[in-house]
Amino acid sequence: MVYAPVPDDPSLPPVRINLFSDTQTRPSRAMREAMADAEVGDEQIGADPTVNSLCDRVAALLGKEAALFMPSGTICNIAATLAHCRPGDEILAHETSHIVSLEGCTHAALGGVQIKPLPGPSGQFTPDDLRRALRPPDRHLARQTLVSVEQTTNLGGGKVWPQSALERIAALAKTHGLATHMDGARLLNASVASGVIPREMVAGWDSVWIDFSKGLGAPLGAVMAGSRGFIDEVWRWKQRLGGSLRQAGICAAACHYALDHNVDRLAEDHVNAWQLAAGLSRLEGIDVQPPETNLVFFDVAGSGISNEELTAALRLRGVLVSIMGGRMRACTHLDVDAAMIEETLDITRELLRQRAAGDSERRVYSVAG
Ligand SMILES: *Cc1c(COP(=O)(O)O)cnc(C)c1O
Repeated sequence: MVYAPVPDDPSLPPVRINLFSDTQTRPSRAMREAMADAEVGDEQIGADPTVNSLCDRVAALLGKEAALFMPSGTICNIAATLAHCRPGDEILAHETSHIVSLEGCTHAALGGVQIKPLPGPSGQFTPDDLRRALRPPDRHLARQTLVSVEQTTNLGGGKVWPQSALERIAALAKTHGLATHMDGARLLNASVASGVIPREMVAGWDSVWIDFSKGLGAPLGAVMAGSRGFIDEVWRWKQRLGGSLRQAGICAAACHYALDHNVDRLAEDHVNAWQLAAGLSRLEGIDVQPPETNLVFFDVAGSGISNEELTAALRLRGVLVSIMGGRMRACTHLDVDAAMIEETLDITRELLRQRAAGDSERRVYSVAG
């Protein structure tokens, strides 16, 4: 699924422009200073003050009763599944969602649940799609217990769910007795792009988490929120899965720093993504999905060079992008500035020009991951 011309191959020049993922952001000096100064305690027994204040802060941000700190977004998704569902249950989610395509079948492997994949453009299904997939209880069939959405849609192109769709989907799920889960890996990107404040965006969703290790620039960490009872149940799974921590305040301090300094600036990432998409769409044979946030998906097949070849050629010039779901993906974040976007466009333009002139590069690097 993810293609990377070996990023640390010593025969390659260093990566200067890293558009591979917003997970590649590095903690800044100021963030590291905040981490160094963090007050800490034993997180596992609820005694880390910096983790506790972060959880209170995220619970308030998302308008939920309680929250807990997790090492990653992936563990939030599986812990939510384990808390909401029993073996033999079914989750309804978009066919391209992270829980379907990028989590190593965790929900079946650990939760004993199946996921019913729903169709729809850009990683989103409609309330009608959901209505068609819902069915009355029947002992021949899996029990439908959870509806899950992804904000923003990752493989769907960083798209923001229309607020009205979120509200109607949550209401429909409730009418049928299903719980609702939002994978909010890039929820703050969605909020900054749409102007919908987080707690309004997630009203009606029983569980929701945000990731600090992506565009927010922290080294690790995610916080999941929900009702007090739900979070108590997720704590059990966090413990069972080995996700309970010790002096995690070091990491929570980075998350506090990210909320203080790195949220409003997500708008810059969206402008950079838009500039990149606009520039690419002016090049012959490149098909670009117009971005709404910080992910730019494009396909260069029409230009006479393959996605794999262009990815490898860019890497040779110090520009790292990925291939996801068969398309090229460039991701903007706080370590990418407008000049880097211009340079990426210049290099891409030159590569396509060389290719058109028959002066092609044949060096294609091996595939990893
Ligand atoms: C990155 C991502 C995850 C997983 O988060 P990690 O912190 O990498 O474990 C889950 N869902 C979506 C949509 C993501 O983009």
